[in-house]
Amino acid sequence: MNNSRNIKDFTIATLGSHTALQILKGARDEGFKTICICERGKTEPYESFNVADEIITLEKYSDFFQIEQQLIDKNTILIPHGSFVAYIGPENIMKIKAMHYGTKEILNWESDRNKEREWLLGAGIKMPKVFSQPEDIDRTVIVKFHGADGGMGYFLANSPAEFHRKHQNYLAKNKSKAYMIQEYIVGVPVYSHYFYSPIDDTLEIMSFDKRYESNADSVGRVAAKDQVDVDIETSYTVTGNVPIVLRESLLPQIFKMGHNVIEKSRELTSGGLFGPFCLEGVIDPQLNYYIFEISARIVAGTNPYINGSPYTWLKYNEPMSTGRRIARDIKKAIETGQLSKVLG
Ligand code: AMP
Ligand code: AMP
Repeated sequence: MNNSRNIKDFTIATLGSHTALQILKGARDEGFKTICICERGKTEPYESFNVADEIITLEKYSDFFQIEQQLIDKNTILIPHGSFVAYIGPENIMKIKAMHYGTKEILNWESDRNKEREWLLGAGIKMPKVFSQPEDIDRTVIVKFHGADGGMGYFLANSPAEFHRKHQNYLAKNKSKAYMIQEYIVGVPVYSHYFYSPIDDTLEIMSFDKRYESNADSVGRVAAKDQVDVDIETSYTVTGNVPIVLRESLLPQIFKMGHNVIEKSRELTSGGLFGPFCLEGVIDPQLNYYIFEISARIVAGTNPYINGSPYTWLKYNEPMSTGRRIARDIKKAIETGQLSKVLG
């Protein structure tokens, strides 16, 4: 049935969190049947917003493989997102037998900070300096722990001594974890959302966002004196996303960065990067855009644009979320007999 050119023979599914609402709504708007896979007790948003034809409930997400055959029988195409990778685990993603949108191989490059750095630097992207040991710290740095915990526990330090003091504090409250010490760039955070279609062979800018982080985005509401008095330490726990429209003269550079990242990915993996991806970084006052991370899949920063962004409005003249853009690419691939081009 995978050779069918009728989208009615296919179902689109994802896990109920992160960007599931726009993925499922987008799939339905393009004419697909939809399934939402939820953990028990977390189904209400998907029922209330009525985006799923079927909801499959699991005791816990790690039970995913128990229902995989059911998905295969329904000719389901799975759409991965941030929570999908966090809950199933990058190593288990490789074991998925159901149809999977996007290259699985690229997730290995994205989830390992060293490989990610090799990819981005190889694409000519500017990145903050990385310090291999705390003793080398000679400027303000941000210390990041591995794994997608949404910025939990990150701290700033200006010297080796400050690093060790804050790391001890961290260890008193948390399990020991690998970390990266990165130069702290003073500027504004900008996350650039792209879509590359292997079917149309075009790169699109979908939108931009910045994260709304607790407490980084609220410490400015407290006077500096009070911050010191009560010893507030900055943290970066993601709670939501805020839309941004970028200074227009930056757009040529944003396109160029996207093209370079795709080109480099083709040297690193067989299929290369396609579908939605995001470059995450900070723009300094000289307009240097330093990237600290790439997400090789849909990011939650696209959620403010379920009805489309200013950029997708220019291109499509109809509501086009990133979730819907994915479904449209899959639809075109099915109807032109090229489905394998968007699966990985
Ligand atoms: P959750 O399903 O909300 O627990 O999210 C799982 C992972 O996806 C988190 O650890 C975050 O890294 C990422 N994530 C979820 N929501 C967002 C968001 N709104 N913005 C950025 N990252 C997010
Ligand atoms: P991340 O988990 O890598 O996306 O980082 C979480 C947050 O930390 C970002 O949204 C930024 O606000 C901040 N951040 C991360 N890396 C840097 C950096 N090198 N310079 C300045 N701010 C950063």
